[in-house]
Amino acid sequence: MTTDFLPITLKNTANRSIFIAGPCSAESPEQMLLTARQLKAAGIGIFRAGAWKPRTRPGGFEGYGTRALEWLNTVKQETGMLTATEIGCAAHAELALKAGIDILWIGARTTASPFAVQEIADCLRGCDIPVMVKNPPCVDIELWEGAIERLYNCGIRRLAAIHRGFKTTEKNGYRNAPLWDYVSRFRESIPGIPMLCDPSHMGGCRDKILPISTEAYLRGYDGLIIESHYNPDSALTDSFQQITPSRIASVLSSWLCKEEAVS
Ligand code: PEP
Ligand code: MN
Repeated sequence: MTTDFLPITLKNTANRSIFIAGPCSAESPEQMLLTARQLKAAGIGIFRAGAWKPRTRPGGFEGYGTRALEWLNTVKQETGMLTATEIGCAAHAELALKAGIDILWIGARTTASPFAVQEIADCLRGCDIPVMVKNPPCVDIELWEGAIERLYNCGIRRLAAIHRGFKTTEKNGYRNAPLWDYVSRFRESIPGIPMLCDPSHMGGCRDKILPISTEAYLRGYDGLIIESHYNPDSALTDSFQQITPSRIASVLSSWLCKEEAVS
């Protein structure tokens, strides 16, 4: 695999980094629009929301599916933001493509399933859509690389990786521990691939978002994907780790201050 893996042309125009924010789950058109408008004002250009939610156990909120894709399109029309959502199987990929979603991502649990990734890759064959691939929950870099290779082999070139931390048995204060040094090996194995950090799923709580984002900046990450909700306490999923758009604004300004300082 070579570095023509790049480029991914998702960067915010005003700076070098990629910033994506939005709710864990798409819950209603109102929640999406309220959150999106505030995020846009905070400087975010790409809006994320989960239409299908991979729940560890059955019985929880599993997302509104295709209805949520329509809400993403409303956000795009009303705010001009690009839209991003998670796909977990070929059927999701097909629906998201049909709906005109701008950017797709493969969630951690799906990255761990070569059959699912292959089916998605086959479905996306020949499409020029950007795809971001999260690391699998288990500490297995090869599974992560393999998922990216499967997409690459189907002609997907606008790829990025997301470090969202790993499940470990240690009590370390993280929901999913960032393994910075381990992931730097992955970065060396696919030179040039944009690497984003997901501090929300790493930290699992609001207070960890800023320090983890700072660490990612210092380690040369290309951007952030952060969960944000206009009223995090009311969120149907991942309520503890979602932050308000105004807190997103301060994470962003801290990152951009550092970026300016070195340019
Ligand atoms: C998400 O981004 O909402 C999500 C489900 O993340 P992960 O796949 O990292 O658990
Ligand atoms: Mn989430």
